[in-house]
Parts: sequence; C-alpha cells; structure tokens
Amino acid sequence: MSTQKRVISFHYTLTDSSGEVIDTSRDQNAPFSYLEGMGQIIPGLERALALLSVGDQRKINVAAADAYGLQDDQLMVKVPREKLPNPGELQAGDQFQASGPNGEMLLFRVVGIEGDEVTLDGNHPLAGVDLVFDIEMTGIREATAEELAHGHVHGPGGHHHH
Ligand code: ZN
Repeated sequence: MSTQKRVISFHYTLTDSSGEVIDTSRDQNAPFSYLEGMGQIIPGLERALALLSVGDQRKINVAAADAYGLQDDQLMVKVPREKLPNPGELQAGDQFQASGPNGEMLLFRVVGIEGDEVTLDGNHPLAGVDLVFDIEMTGIREATAEELAHGHVHGPGGHHHH
C-alpha cells in the first residue's frame, strides 16, 4: 500500500435521512476535491470513499457520530443578553465565536431569546443528524509535492491562491 497521499474528487448530494437536501456539489463548477488523510471531510465519508474507483456511484450512509457528532447538551448555554455584542439587535440565528467547555473556539448560534436571557447553541448545525451522501467519484490522482507541502488541493475544486 502506497504512503503517497491522493487527491480525491467527487460530486455529492447530501441529504438527511428523510431525503431533505442539505448541500450539493452539483451547482458548483467543479467536483469537490480533498487531500486524503488530512481530516478535510468527515471521517465516515472519507473511509467509504477510500474504497471507491473513478466512475463509481454510491449512496453512503454516515451516522451522526461518524459525521458532525452527537448533540452535546453542555453546548446549550443560557447567558444574559447584555453579555453579548450588540445586545439591542440580537436575533435568532446570530452567531458568535466563544470558547467551549474544553477551551476550544466554537461558533455559537442564538437559538432562543426570552426577555433578558439568550439561549446559545455551540453544536454544529448538523450535530445529531444522520447523513446520506449520493456520491459520484470523478477523479483520483496522486497529490503533488506542492499540495503535500501546503496540506490542501490546488486547481479546480481546491484552493486558487497562487
Ligand atoms: Zn496552496
């Protein structure tokens, strides 16, 4: 087995288990591309894609625990309105960076406002959601030395900063 990392390209349509579309690459100019082994896509999907060949079409189910994780009740917090930026203009859906229980920076969303008390949710919006990816593998190639040095894919579907 080669230790050379590969660049994998694929089209996808992501739905939840009820079939509601969450995201798709079909409206982009290029398939989505990632560098293997870098944690650039969710682990359950990366493991499944590693087994496919170009041209394969598959439905891949990824349980929440292997996708964006389970809902963590510790990340639902109530805070006084005046502790937040622009307290007079707060709306549900507003987002703030703040440190979570383990000190990591998380994005918190306003999910409820009751008087002077605001409920924030630091869970990923897809936490607790079982995902279904409808996949078409479009490309597999070895990563270039420059891509390995940068840790990301260059060209269509990747970064364009050069
Ligand atoms: Zn680069």
